[in-house]
Amino acid sequence: MKAILIGPPGGGKGTQAAFLMDKYGVAHISTGDMLRAAVKEGTDLGKKAKSFMDKGELLPDDVIIGIIGERIQADDCKKGFLLDGFPRTIPQADALEDMLSKSGATIDHVIHIAVADDELMKRLLGRAEKEGRSDDNEETIKNRLKVFHEQTSPLIDYYRNKGNLRDIDGMGSIDEITGRIKSAIQ
Ligand code: AMP
Repeated sequence: MKAILIGPPGGGKGTQAAFLMDKYGVAHISTGDMLRAAVKEGTDLGKKAKSFMDKGELLPDDVIIGIIGERIQADDCKKGFLLDGFPRTIPQADALEDMLSKSGATIDHVIHIAVADDELMKRLLGRAEKEGRSDDNEETIKNRLKVFHEQTSPLIDYYRNKGNLRDIDGMGSIDEITGRIKSAIQ
């Protein structure tokens, strides 16, 4: 199974990815996690990524496309993968389609988790207190939501037009949302 999770920051993508990974045994590819690891290790990529992440801005498409291009060729992706946080722009989605078409592969499901902005703000500020992520402060959160609406939400219609979008109501308990995803992709 090859699937994409699209949703706003704080929308529960990471939490639901864990469930899908368990159920389907596919690789979980979170670009945010990969970038945070690079920042921690202090690699060149990490140094470059940090300034974008701290402002809540997206990294340039070519950088992130290069990272994903390599990652999806790894052995653990043979059974499929779940992309969490990629693509986030139309050029990234086009690049993914190009990469997959070379091997005749397609995306089975695009799962769109929808959550209202005021609820996201509440969740992200709560997470900021608990986890201390450097991009979870009020100013950066506001910018991440703006960037989501401007640059990422056009992907919803992009995939809707392709016919493989599954809309999921992301309000409610984790289990409720997991249940909705389960019935949408069965
Ligand atoms: P996330 O944990 O998915 O919210 O990602 C955290 C941050 O990493 C984002 O705010 C961006 O700065 C960067 N990032 C993650 N994925 C991408 C992507 N696909 N394109 C550009 N920047 C990304």
